[in-house]
Amino acid sequence: MTAPPHTAHPDGPGRGLPDTQQGMRRRNLARVMHTVSAEGPLSRAAVASRIGLTRAAVSTLVDELVRAGLLEELGPERPGRVGRPGSALAVSANGPAGIGAEVGVDHLAVCAVDLRGRVRARAVRHGSHRGRPARAVVDRLGDLVRQLTGAAREQGLWPAGLAVAVPGLVARDARTVVRAPNLDWHDADLGELLAVDMPLTVDNEANFGALAELWLGAGTPRDFLHVSAEIGIGAAVMMDGRLLRGTRGFAGELGHIPVRPDGPECACGGRGCLEQYAGEEAVLRAAGLEPGEDRVGVLARRAAEDDEDVRRALADAGTALGIALTGAVNLLDPERVVLGGALAQLAPWLLPSLRDELARRTAGPACPVSVSGLGSQGPLLGAAHSVVRQVLDDPAAAAEAQGNGNGNGKAGG
Ligand SMILES: [Zn+2]
Repeated sequence: MTAPPHTAHPDGPGRGLPDTQQGMRRRNLARVMHTVSAEGPLSRAAVASRIGLTRAAVSTLVDELVRAGLLEELGPERPGRVGRPGSALAVSANGPAGIGAEVGVDHLAVCAVDLRGRVRARAVRHGSHRGRPARAVVDRLGDLVRQLTGAAREQGLWPAGLAVAVPGLVARDARTVVRAPNLDWHDADLGELLAVDMPLTVDNEANFGALAELWLGAGTPRDFLHVSAEIGIGAAVMMDGRLLRGTRGFAGELGHIPVRPDGPECACGGRGCLEQYAGEEAVLRAAGLEPGEDRVGVLARRAAEDDEDVRRALADAGTALGIALTGAVNLLDPERVVLGGALAQLAPWLLPSLRDELARRTAGPACPVSVSGLGSQGPLLGAAHSVVRQVLDDPAAAAEAQGNGNGNGKAGG
């Protein structure tokens, strides 16, 4: 049920293949897929010239990808032209789909993204998961995934894999949620709990949010810090287009960086952590509001209506974020800080104090801070796209999985 080792993490493009003819073939299949995905529709000749292989070699690779339903022929490039026209190739609109899922404290969301990057099906279920056992929440997620994959299959897609974003620490096995404080999950092995008939990858929501920013964001650099929030605050460190994961896979816990050493106690055992000043509940408390439904929406609305208490609470949260980010920026020297998730929605009121603090404290020119255009959709889209990337990175594995019945789809497109 788990993905093969070289695809266990969404940012590991086909690593570890032996340098044999078989490995060469797999790499060339991936090069054809990536080229057509990025620049298609393209003729066989155009693909051959772009990747520097002979037209005959490319034709063999293309035929294999068309048979597996990963590429499709769109028909003659220039109908009516004398001679044999080249057929334009595109990645299949109705081939494999990446299934993304998100477990939030108050919701579940799933979506299917096709090889062309379009969201083809989506479903959301609201309802609090606080105090509910992991098994009950995961059962509910399994039902939602089956419902969504059914809808995707009706459109001619076949699920190539499932990636689940969770608000917690995920072990490097990419399936065990070691700790999710706001869900009260400990050592929950989703590989065991979640009954689905496709390869599974589990990762922290902040990591998937950062990957979405890297792949889908407008002009996102390859070195950046991505900071997001739901109830907790998470961050992901992207260095040269790859996630920095740390020894146990726990890198990026910005929410538990101390802002004031003698501050209030935190659930992590520390004191004065960033989450105690800029987490959703802390901001609501500081603004004199009760935690309820649509907490971020309420904060944004009240701030837009010039509610003084809310504006002050958000400005203070921005200051705390600036202090915590100073340490991270000085240590890592990213090209940019990107605010995603709930922080993107609240950015107009967080940014002034955050930028001031960062500029005042960092050495050299201040690190630019921008706001993600993906907003709260980042983690879900990043999860689904990570599966699509795995198909592009190793199309041979996707074709084999489909052949073994995992895809249960039609071959030949
Ligand atoms: Zn803490």
